Amino acid sequence: MLSEFDLIARYFTRPARPGGAVLLGVGDDCALLAPPPGETLAISTDMLVEGRHFFAGADPEALGHKALAVNLSDLAAMGARPLGFTLALALPAADATWLEAFSRGLLALADEHGIELVGGDTTRGPLNICITVFGSVPGGRSLRRDGAAAGDEVWVSGTLGDARLALEALLQNERLPADMLQAAAPRLHRPTPRIALGLALRGIASAAIDVSDGLLGDLGHILERSALGAVIDADALPFGAVLASQAPELKREFALNGGDDYELCFTAPPALRASVEAAAAAAGVTVTCIGRITQQAGLHVTDGSGHALAPASRSFDHFASP
Ligand code: ADP
Ligand code: MG
Repeated sequence: MLSEFDLIARYFTRPARPGGAVLLGVGDDCALLAPPPGETLAISTDMLVEGRHFFAGADPEALGHKALAVNLSDLAAMGARPLGFTLALALPAADATWLEAFSRGLLALADEHGIELVGGDTTRGPLNICITVFGSVPGGRSLRRDGAAAGDEVWVSGTLGDARLALEALLQNERLPADMLQAAAPRLHRPTPRIALGLALRGIASAAIDVSDGLLGDLGHILERSALGAVIDADALPFGAVLASQAPELKREFALNGGDDYELCFTAPPALRASVEAAAAAAGVTVTCIGRITQQAGLHVTDGSGHALAPASRSFDHFASP
């Protein structure tokens, strides 16, 4: 049986990279991080709970990836550069096969972004994965939710809705042929945090958020913080490759209210359209203009010819009454 300390040493401790932001990693009472001079720390925490955020028995390698990806997505939405992260892990048992696969998925994504696991806590309990990410951003250049202005265009990266489609198919609420489920499932299980896009949008986007709970709900947070409204053109939405072949109402619903997309929704002045497109090209991701910020409060959805549609915003809320 692995002891707590063997487990940490075997699966969660690696030699520190020289020259990085991490002065001291796993093994002391605290990690020591040095953000670049003049930059501000950006910090975010996200927890994944078995049975709530993922199915019992979920693939541990994908879980490791997703647990870090959803946290990095928050740094992306702030325009922050990742420095490192901590991992607080509750495990029912020290299962070597599970731990090996989980740490492989986790650390592979960390390597993609050149960041270190700098510490954490490990305890026995129902499976629960809590990661805190640390990033840095030059003061005043972070992409906050409260910066949108009337007349700004609303943009979204990548595509929307395939993660929700895969989830509903796995829950057997939607019927999807096996090959299509297989094509959509990576959007649910292995989201791609848009770090490069967030960095490229510094000084261009006026506000940003990552789409974790559904486009309308998340855009609603920008509108609330910026005290403005928006009109969204449902016919401009970039549908996921698999969702694109589904019925029109389903496409619209999952793209607007799907959740688990981990794309960036951001606003920018129309005069900066070319800069937005250049930033996206440099980051290697598509972006689509889907609407406009209005002085008048409220979030309205129209079709391509401007006729009002009425999809309610149903952003996910863990404590909403059923
Ligand atoms: P303390 O009692 O001081 O909190 P612990 O015994 O909990 O320390 O942890 C020992 C070291 O291992 C610390 O540096 C801690 O950050 C690190 N650590 C514990 N659990 C994890 C984990 N799951 N991943 C990475 N580092 C961990
Ligand atoms: Mg501890």
